[in-house]
Amino acid sequence: MKLSELKNGETAVIVRLSGHGGFRKRIMEMGFIRGEKVKSVLDSPMHDPIKYHIMGYDISLRRGEADMIEVLPEEEAKKELTPAPSFSCFSACEECNGCACRSCTQRKVSTKKNNVINVALVGNPNSGKTSIFNALAGENEHVGNYSGVTIDAKTGSFNYKGYRINITDLPGTYSIAAYSPEEIYVRRHLFEQMPDIIINSVVASNVERNLYLTTELIDMNLRTVVALNMYDELLASGAKIDYEHLGGMMGIPMVPVIAKTGKGLDKLLDIVIELFEGKNSTIRHIHINYGNTLEGELAPLSERMHKASDLPYQFPVRYWALKLLEQDKEAIAQLHNCAELTEWQQMAGHAAKRIHTSLKIDVETAISDAKYGFINGALQETYTPGNKDTQKHTRRIDRLVANRWLGFPIFILVMWVMFYTVFLLGAYPQDWIDALFSFFGDFVTRFIPEGAIQDLIVDGIIGGVGSVAVFIPQILILYLFISLMEDSGYMARAAFIMDRLMHKMGLHGKSFIPMLMGFGCNVPAIMATRTIESHSSRIITILVTPFMSCSARLPVLVLFTGAFFPNHAPTVLISLYLLGIVVAVFTARLLRWTRFQKDETPFVMELPPYRIPTLRATLRHMWEKCEQYIRKIGTTILVATVIIWFLSYFPRPTESDNSTPANTEQMTESGYENSYIGMIGRAIEPALAPLGQNWRSSVAIITSIPAKELVVSTFGVLYSSDTEEGIESDLKESGDFSPRSAAAFLVFILLFFPCIATVATIATETGSRLWALFSVVYNTTVAWVAGYIVYIIGGLF
Ligand code: GDP
Ligand code: MG
Repeated sequence: MKLSELKNGETAVIVRLSGHGGFRKRIMEMGFIRGEKVKSVLDSPMHDPIKYHIMGYDISLRRGEADMIEVLPEEEAKKELTPAPSFSCFSACEECNGCACRSCTQRKVSTKKNNVINVALVGNPNSGKTSIFNALAGENEHVGNYSGVTIDAKTGSFNYKGYRINITDLPGTYSIAAYSPEEIYVRRHLFEQMPDIIINSVVASNVERNLYLTTELIDMNLRTVVALNMYDELLASGAKIDYEHLGGMMGIPMVPVIAKTGKGLDKLLDIVIELFEGKNSTIRHIHINYGNTLEGELAPLSERMHKASDLPYQFPVRYWALKLLEQDKEAIAQLHNCAELTEWQQMAGHAAKRIHTSLKIDVETAISDAKYGFINGALQETYTPGNKDTQKHTRRIDRLVANRWLGFPIFILVMWVMFYTVFLLGAYPQDWIDALFSFFGDFVTRFIPEGAIQDLIVDGIIGGVGSVAVFIPQILILYLFISLMEDSGYMARAAFIMDRLMHKMGLHGKSFIPMLMGFGCNVPAIMATRTIESHSSRIITILVTPFMSCSARLPVLVLFTGAFFPNHAPTVLISLYLLGIVVAVFTARLLRWTRFQKDETPFVMELPPYRIPTLRATLRHMWEKCEQYIRKIGTTILVATVIIWFLSYFPRPTESDNSTPANTEQMTESGYENSYIGMIGRAIEPALAPLGQNWRSSVAIITSIPAKELVVSTFGVLYSSDTEEGIESDLKESGDFSPRSAAAFLVFILLFFPCIATVATIATETGSRLWALFSVVYNTTVAWVAGYIVYIIGGLF
């Protein structure tokens, strides 16, 4: 029967996996292998996804994914599953006696230059990598962020016992296969950067699944030390692990660590140095035995490959041969310079077929089975499970938080508190910052003579920086919530609850929070997408978030509905918000049909046990995000505001007028009309004419680019009125708008790209200017088309 048919509370044994390679591989590395027991724990409130318990941890699977896992009740499974062939689990690598193999010697040569050790942190998500990183390098000011295409890796350095240690916090992965972008990132880092030492962070209380990744490091023959992290949890559960013996068997030194308190980290670093100096007695290269059939095919292939002189030396021959048997695309790409690659591939292809016929399972499954077999064998001798149920409170909280009736109300309450705090409480410090900047502006006004320079500094620079700085309190508060939710484990539950709904849009459960945040401000909302691991879901979420009508658009919407639809204001406002949501859903679907046909990562998501977040980690997250915002976004916005200021200030009406103070007092209509912005407004007027817009509304659309609120003040300048009521009546009386062109304007402003800050955030968060450009073009097109449709429909009445 299918795993999805299992009722809550029932246990069964896995007998077969179907589905495409990426899915199978992913699910195998997370512990779904033949013969493993799995328990259905809890349905999410909408019955999809489902929480399962396997290998001592909780995982969420979508129903469609659970359909692809065939299970049988324990009794029947015993008959069905032939016992795994028994073979000795591993053997020492003969070829690299004392680690003299090609990959080791070359590596030693390449690193012996100086006293710098490059260390990479590798491990499962939530295994405490970042905690280890922060404990080691966090206090050091040299913590630079560099981002890959989408994934961030952090680098820091510190001194220890005469060495300069550079440490990189790599993204969390369950394996180093090359299916997810994170895995590809890690693999490329290991291949290209060739770190001297790997610290593999392993959750001590969940060694079985965590060591899977370690077995891949063994295949890659990297100098690794295992940090048995969260050792406190292992002790609390009453479990025992003979880590010295285990490390001896695996050929990898292991150190118990409590990253949260920093315990054991000194020992960890000592071993890093021992490994670097070649003085560690535990480390040796072993070969995991993949069984007679596989080994029989592997031997001739590696022998053949061994003869080649152009094989990259980063990894051992056996590893490349294994990867070719698996037909791993990334490995094939890395071997593209090898003259004999095609022959090897052919050989591997035939071998894979023979393995399939003889074992009735594909190579990847055979390898995963053998890896888990090896881990099990090693743990049998060294690990005694605990007798204390440490997951009791996690189960209790989950029963409440993912409850059919209470799940949603609790989630809505949490969201409400977050939303309220971010946008309403955040408004107070926001006002203070605003006041501070205008005070500063006034102050400067007094000291710099009136004219272009004063205007540039006060309106351009101070105003521009101020418009960015006001978001800081919101971002801090937002990240307080996000850090708390992530570190405590609630974020995974929120995704668990919302996934069904979001999946219908082609998105991920974790997309909900950013989209909701979008109603407040798109900038922090887009930053909140970082919690989404799936690359395509994240990009789609980023691109649809701008359609959530942010609070900056509200004053414009209110002004226009008040002026032109006073009797239907609430209906019009709500319709506009709904229109934004509809366009977002449409866009998400469209992107799924076209660019991102399949979600490349299955939903399979670990539901980590609830943990109490530490204050230090939370504060650190808040500060990091804030700093990034100020640095990256601040510069872009500053430049853009200065440009817009320049365009609206120049050219001055006439050179002689410029020297008379009276004319620089205020931007007049003619000032705008003759400025570059006015020219641009006139230039784009024909493009907006089909929507019933004239040059004034065109100017307003241009000035809305730095921030949407500016539409209101632009009309204020254009009509020379200071008050909101004044602008409203001027709007009506000017004859610039009819109700239908006003409606078209509203729709245009709603769907048009929100502001420069958002575009800059899209660029930094997607890691690509192209996506930012796409967003600008797409949103403008959509805004135009929708505005046009509204204008045409308006004409029918
Ligand atoms: P990463 O995803 O691998 O970077 O993991 P994090 O460093 O973010 O840690 C995940 C969670 O484990 C956080 O809530 C940490 O506070 C917690 N954690 C980290 N180290 C320890 C530890 O030694 N003991 C316990 N009990 N919790 C820890
Ligand atoms: Mg981390």
